[in-house]
Formats: sequence, structure tokens, C-alpha cells
Amino acid sequence: MARRIGIVAILALLLAPLRMSVASTDDALDKYLQQIAAGLPESTAATLNRIDGAPRRLLAARAYLRAGDTLRSRWSWTTAEIQDHTRSPEYRALMDETERVRRRFEAQNPGYTLYANTEARSLEQQISRFNTNNSVGRVAATLHRQALTELARPGYESVDQADDVERFKRFLADWRPPTAAPLAAPGISRHGQLRAIDFQIMKGAAIVAATETATVKRNWDAPGWTKKLQTALEGSNFRGPLQSPYEPWHYEYDP
Ligand SMILES: [Zn+2]
Repeated sequence: MARRIGIVAILALLLAPLRMSVASTDDALDKYLQQIAAGLPESTAATLNRIDGAPRRLLAARAYLRAGDTLRSRWSWTTAEIQDHTRSPEYRALMDETERVRRRFEAQNPGYTLYANTEARSLEQQISRFNTNNSVGRVAATLHRQALTELARPGYESVDQADDVERFKRFLADWRPPTAAPLAAPGISRHGQLRAIDFQIMKGAAIVAATETATVKRNWDAPGWTKKLQTALEGSNFRGPLQSPYEPWHYEYDP
């Protein structure tokens, strides 16, 4: 019995520093994230604060670092800005073009209809989806593990060293996910300024091909809807579809 207690005590002693170093690295990670936020535009830093947990925050920070100077110009509209936009000539043009595409698709594919989601996705919607999407969570967890490994490498001394912060920023910006997250970081989705439209194929009230990643092969590629939608969009101001992540329904609008 005494011997068993001895072994437990020795194990506890051996593991204690390990636990401490993991805790202190997580702590360091938070500090690096704060430094990164300090260098971002105000609205972006505020959004980063509304993302749940270090893993998802890291994934968003990576996207913001990569977006660099384009952050301000592409930043998603608020609900009020979305409403203003619906009174603009640009919005009218988008609606007219979507209508032309729909008629062409339906002439080319009798019996089927094309649904276009022409609603901008507000910043609030993007934050709540990013915080709850499971696939985003999985990509974020991978990044989190690798970020902790990165910070444990020799040479990282302190978050107060500008060099160390720059080095960690480079690690984040260069990091490549094993598979792309299915959502853009909040604020930089092309849907946030109505620069992207998601289409769906319908037959009566039934959705034949929906905007669901799991059904891409079965409902889009195999039955030929990917190609048929592309054909209907030829010669229009829509560019696509999105390749990474692969979304045959997602087209960017480039007037
Ligand atoms: Zn989309």
C-alpha cells in the first residue's frame, strides 16, 4: 500500500510540471491573440472578441491576418447597411441578372426551378454560425493543437517581444488546414456585402440539390446539376463556383 502511494506521489510529481507548462502555454496563446487583435481594425478586433474559445478565435485571426489591407473594404454590412443597399441601383441590377439566369436555367431544364438566395448575411449571423458550426470547430481544434506546439518551439521568449509576435503571426497566416473550413471568418464572407449568391435546384416545393456539403457528390456532381448551373450562368456577371471549400452552389457576383 505504502509503495503504491509512493508510486502515485512520484507520478504526480512527474506530471505536475507538464500540466503547468500546458496551462502557461494556453495562457501565452491568449496573450498572443490579444496582441494580434490590437493590430486589427477596431470592428475586426471587436468581432474577434465575440468568437467563442481560443481555437475558433485562432482560426478567425488567421483569416484576418491573411485578408490584411482588404479587411476594411470587404467588411460585412450591418443589418441597417443591408437595408440601405436594397435601395441601390447595384441591388436592382443584381436582382435583374438573377432573374435572367433563373429563366435561362428553367428553359434549359424543363420541370426544374432555380432558387437564388439574394439576402446578404449580416455580421451577427456570421458570428453565430461560426461559433456553432461543428466542422469549423474541428478545423479550429487542429489549428489550436498546432499553435500550442508552435509556441513551445525554441526561440519564443515572450509576448512582449515584437519579434515573437511577428513570428507567431507568420505561423498563423501560413498555416494550411487539412480541409478548408466550410464558413469564412465572421466579417469577411462574400455574402456579407452581397458579393456572393447561393443557388439551389428545386422541383416544385422539393429541394433537389441543397447547399449542403455532405450532399455535393450525390446531389450536385453525379446528377449533373453542377454543370447545368454553370451552363445557365455562362456569360453572366457570376463567377464560380467556389472551389475551396468546394461548393457548386456558391457564385461570386462581379458587376
Ligand atoms: Zn455561399
